[in-house]
Amino acid sequence: MAYREITTVENEVLRKKSKIVKEFVQDDESLGILLDDMAQTLERTDNGVGLAAPQVGILKRVVIINLNNMFLELVNPTIISKSKEEETCEEACLSVPGKRGLVKRPLEVTVQAFDRYGNKFIIKGEKFLARCLCHELDHLDGILYIDIMEKELKENKK
Ligand SMILES: [Zn+2]
Repeated sequence: MAYREITTVENEVLRKKSKIVKEFVQDDESLGILLDDMAQTLERTDNGVGLAAPQVGILKRVVIINLNNMFLELVNPTIISKSKEEETCEEACLSVPGKRGLVKRPLEVTVQAFDRYGNKFIIKGEKFLARCLCHELDHLDGILYIDIMEKELKENKK
């Protein structure tokens, strides 16, 4: 496994649309290597809970989330339903260091995705997990939370 550098807001790669993954681990090892490297990269951050492939400069629809001892690998994730009910909460991004903002997100989302071997699964997230899923999936379409935030919060932490 290898650490990969996290791209930051001025890098154009974060603004591009990621491509659907067509080759899973049994045909091509590169997806497994990418996922392992992303896990190692996320582990090294201070308090990152999720990472999308464009954040390590790779335009593939791949996301990982590590939240409350639950580790998720999502390949080609799509939101298949979301609650009408929304919640506005604080959000930050490893690619936008030192900033925070208030973002409105659905309270619940259901996401369909594939694991690294191409097995389809469904994950339902509420509250903070729903927020993480929305945030990371947005990265795959070149959207950053700062594009949709209601308000930037004053910096009072490092
Ligand atoms: Zn982010």
